[in-house]
Amino acid sequence: MKSRSGRTAAAAPASGRDVQPLMTTLNEFSRCVAQYDPHALPVSAAQSIVRQWAAPVTAVERVPLRDALDRVLAADIISPIDVPSHDNSAMDGYAFNCAALAANESTVDLTIVGKALAGHPFAGHVGTTQCVRVMTGACMPADCDTVVPQELVERSADSTSIRFAANAVRAGANRRRAGEDLARGHAALRAGRIMRASDLGLLASLGIGEVNVRRRLRVAFFSTGDELRSLGEPLDQGSVYDSNRYTLFAMLRRLNMDTLDLGVVRDEPAALEAALRSAAASADVVLTSGGVSVGEADFTKQLLQTFGDVAFWSLAMRPGRPLAFGRVWSGDHPGLGLPALFFGLPGNPVAVMVTFYQIVREALLLMSGATPQALPLLRAASRQIIRKRAGRTEYQRGVAEQVLGAPGQWHVTPTGSQSSGVLSSMSEANCFIVLGHDEADIAEGEHVDIMLFDGLI
Ligand code: AMP
Ligand code: MG
Repeated sequence: MKSRSGRTAAAAPASGRDVQPLMTTLNEFSRCVAQYDPHALPVSAAQSIVRQWAAPVTAVERVPLRDALDRVLAADIISPIDVPSHDNSAMDGYAFNCAALAANESTVDLTIVGKALAGHPFAGHVGTTQCVRVMTGACMPADCDTVVPQELVERSADSTSIRFAANAVRAGANRRRAGEDLARGHAALRAGRIMRASDLGLLASLGIGEVNVRRRLRVAFFSTGDELRSLGEPLDQGSVYDSNRYTLFAMLRRLNMDTLDLGVVRDEPAALEAALRSAAASADVVLTSGGVSVGEADFTKQLLQTFGDVAFWSLAMRPGRPLAFGRVWSGDHPGLGLPALFFGLPGNPVAVMVTFYQIVREALLLMSGATPQALPLLRAASRQIIRKRAGRTEYQRGVAEQVLGAPGQWHVTPTGSQSSGVLSSMSEANCFIVLGHDEADIAEGEHVDIMLFDGLI
């Protein structure tokens, strides 16, 4: 089998996890997951199967710090220095030795013997009845361990000494310790971290200008459907513009994936086969939309079984019930050519987004080498009755607001239409209302879980 640089995607279930080494096909593997029922697979079981097939890419690139934004750190960063490198003052004030506080007087009088500014240390000796004028960030003079803020002192008329109440400061106050931000020899950032603004700044504070990151994951996608028209084409009777490729492009870009748009593919086995093979040849992951529901599924199924290892699931989820998941190869037999992980998403535009976030997203992050965090949920009181059938997880679209005058308390209203074809419900909403597998109808005022789009979408 040919191998692409750092490409381990979908070659086998990810190692180091709870996988039996002899299980090689997705169907064998899936049957060992608790609650496995391909006709009504709970979301949690699907997530657990997918997670185990998402093997991280291994190739590493060295990039300048600015280019590391949103990339996945390939190895721990061990701090080469202490940050800050010296004890320094946290305030504008006067540095002195705390022995001056021990004299049991109600006031402390100290003579000013010098000045230290950030970048301009004071080099002399400081006696116990003396002090040094210091500015924030200035190195603590050698004999000093405490800073009294300038607003707590009275200066003598000739500005040669200060007086302050002995109980105004405690010994050691207002001193920042060397290494208190980052200690030399300790891990400053862990491998698997997706680098954010604070991380770039943190590495700069360590003097690190280049880092090793995993190569970006390459994700190919195409839409299927004879009714689909690309932008710029006229809309004839019964046709619709292909919106899924734009939604997918944007969702993938937000996750910093390297995207490959393969256009619209007709509902024809030969065209589909060619598109899938070429996608597998050039990407780690292949996403398609449409053609996996009952009716159209038959030829897709047969086709995918000839050169892939794909399971057709009916998820206990709404929207997003039909979903195909597995591996495809660029060759004409399973195991021949280059492998790619495959997700056949439903065609309905809202179902594409919901299955992407709930099923695909975590796999993409894992394959990128990241350590994904569970998406946070908030509790919100529903402003209206919500119809829900127990036995499936629903991701309704909602508009959440904080309750006026009660910060931290939320309420949520479902958007009008919850049809999986109504994409405007996603644009109107600012959260998913997550109704758990076992939950039934929700009464007005009852609390539900919500997942805010901010930071997600
Ligand atoms: P399918 O899953 O192929 O049966 O498609 C379900 C519904 O989603 C149909 O109404 C399709 O026209 C629609 N659909 C499928 N793919 C797309 C797409 N790429 N953009 C917009 N609508 C789509
Ligand atoms: Mg279709």
